[in-house]
Amino acid sequence: MEIQVKDLLSKGMKVPIRRSLDADWLRQVRKDVIGTSPLEVDLTASGEDGVAHVEGELSIEVELACSRCLEPTKERIAVPFHERFKPAAAMDGGSEEEEIIPVEDGKIDLEPLIEETIMLSLPFVPLCVDDCKGLCQTCGANLNEQNCGCSKDRIDPRMAALKDLFK
Ligand SMILES: [Zn+2]
Ligand SMILES: [Zn+2]
Repeated sequence: MEIQVKDLLSKGMKVPIRRSLDADWLRQVRKDVIGTSPLEVDLTASGEDGVAHVEGELSIEVELACSRCLEPTKERIAVPFHERFKPAAAMDGGSEEEEIIPVEDGKIDLEPLIEETIMLSLPFVPLCVDDCKGLCQTCGANLNEQNCGCSKDRIDPRMAALKDLFK
């Protein structure tokens, strides 16, 4: 998914970029990803004052395993995307260029940037509900569904001392 930065700048065009990308790679990089919808890309590329802008929104629906009870939970993620590009030869090292990505041969592949943005917007600790009770550490029962009756206060006295430390 390449954009021609040179063309954008020389012609001053606005180009819509609408794609549905396969997002199966997410399951390779995050083990708690169970499945995903296609990654919807809705961006506009434009050139202005020697800088190419690509901006818009990325969205996806991801099914993740709850970090406490492991039940599948669906998250709809929509994140803004805005990147700036400039031919490397035209960069002068000024401080206003800090957020600008240099482009070597007139074009750039957007896909790695899009994938990184989506990765960073996934919930770090997915939860099915905010107060998910998780699994019983003794018998493994899902405590959202049943009260297994195991004692909850079998805490080793040394652990109890540690717990006090972190109050
Ligand atoms: Zn849960
Ligand atoms: Zn139990």
